[in-house]
Amino acid sequence: MQALAVFPSQKRVDLLDIAEPQPKGATEVLLRLREVGLCGTDREIASFEYGDPPSGSDHLILGHESLAEVVEVGREVHGLKPGDLVVAMVRRPCPHPECRACRAGRPDFCLTGDYTERGIKGADGFLTDYVADDEAFLVKVPHALSDVAVLVEPLTVVTKAADQAHAIFNRLPYDPGPQRGLVLGAGPIGLLGAMLLVADGFETIVYSRDSEESTQAKLVRSLGAQYVPSTANPIESLAEGWGEFDVVLEAVGFAPLMMAASQTLRANGLLALTGVPHEAAAVELNGRTLRDLVLGNRVVFGTVNAGRRDHLSAIQHLEQFMVLFPESVRQLITYRVPLDEAPQMLMQKRGIKNVVEMRRAA
Ligand SMILES: [Zn+2]
Ligand SMILES: [Zn+2]
Repeated sequence: MQALAVFPSQKRVDLLDIAEPQPKGATEVLLRLREVGLCGTDREIASFEYGDPPSGSDHLILGHESLAEVVEVGREVHGLKPGDLVVAMVRRPCPHPECRACRAGRPDFCLTGDYTERGIKGADGFLTDYVADDEAFLVKVPHALSDVAVLVEPLTVVTKAADQAHAIFNRLPYDPGPQRGLVLGAGPIGLLGAMLLVADGFETIVYSRDSEESTQAKLVRSLGAQYVPSTANPIESLAEGWGEFDVVLEAVGFAPLMMAASQTLRANGLLALTGVPHEAAAVELNGRTLRDLVLGNRVVFGTVNAGRRDHLSAIQHLEQFMVLFPESVRQLITYRVPLDEAPQMLMQKRGIKNVVEMRRAA
C-alpha cells in the first residue's frame, strides 16, 4: 500500500510503498483510513520547518487529522467493533514515570516534551490505507457524522480552548451574563471556533484578512456572526468600533496580532492563543498592555492539542453544528483529492479545509 512521507534529511516529499500493518496486541485495532485532513502543520512539515521521523527511520508518514473505519480488533478491545468509525488522537504520552500529565492520560499537558505525535513528531501519521493503533487512542464517531467527521481533530483544538476558558471563567464571583466573542482568523480553526461561540450563545465577530466578499466572510455571516476584514480595521482600534470582548480566540499564528489582541479584551476577559508563530518574529510589548492585563484581571493563555474529553466534546459540538448550520459545516471542506494528488494540494493555499480521500471499502 502507498503512503505519503516526508524525508527531512533529503528535503523530499514522496509517495512510497509500505507493508500493511499486522496488529498483534490484544488492545490493538486495525484501521482502514477513510479521510485525512491537511492543514498548515502538514504544510510546514512538508517544507521541512519541523516534523521528526520515528527514531531509526529516515522518513515520517504525514497526516494527523484522521477518520478511519475499524477492520479488526484485538481480543481485549471492548469498546470498538469492525465497521465502527473512529478518529485517532494525535499526541501520545511520554515514557517518564514522573510526568503526572501523561500518567493521568493527558499527554496534551505533557510536562517533559518527550511525547510523540502521529504524523508530526516521532510517530508515523495516517496518510496511508491501513494503520494499527491502540484502542486507548481511538475515539468512536457516529456514522451520521461520516461526511464531516474529518473535522473532529481540528475541532478538538477549539473544544480544548473552550474547556480551559470555562475553567478560568469559573473563578468569577458573579454570573457573566450574555458574552461577546472575537475570533482572529478565518481558517478551519477560526471558523470552527466561530461555530462553537455561536452555538454557545455568544455574540460573535470574526476578524481576518479575507475580503468581505470572500467565501470565508460569507460562511461567517451564514452562522449569524459578523465578519470584520482586518484590512480596514487595525486590531489596536478594533474595540473602539466594535466593542470589547469577553473571549478572544486567536487562530492566526502571527506574533504581532497575537500580542495586540489582548487590547480587545473587556475587564476579566480572556485571550486563548492557538496559532504557532515563527520563533524569530519580533513583537513590541509596551507597559500599557501589561498594565491593562493586571488592572483588568485579564488572562492570556496558550492551548495545544487535546485530550479524550475534548474529542468527545468536539463530536457533540459537531452534531450540534449539523443541526444548527449543516451547510456551513459542509462548506468548510473545500476539496477532496486522492492520495497521489496530496503533495500538490498540500503546497497550495487554496480553499478552507482540504481532505485526502483514501480508497473506499474493498
Ligand atoms: Zn492539523
Ligand atoms: Zn509527559
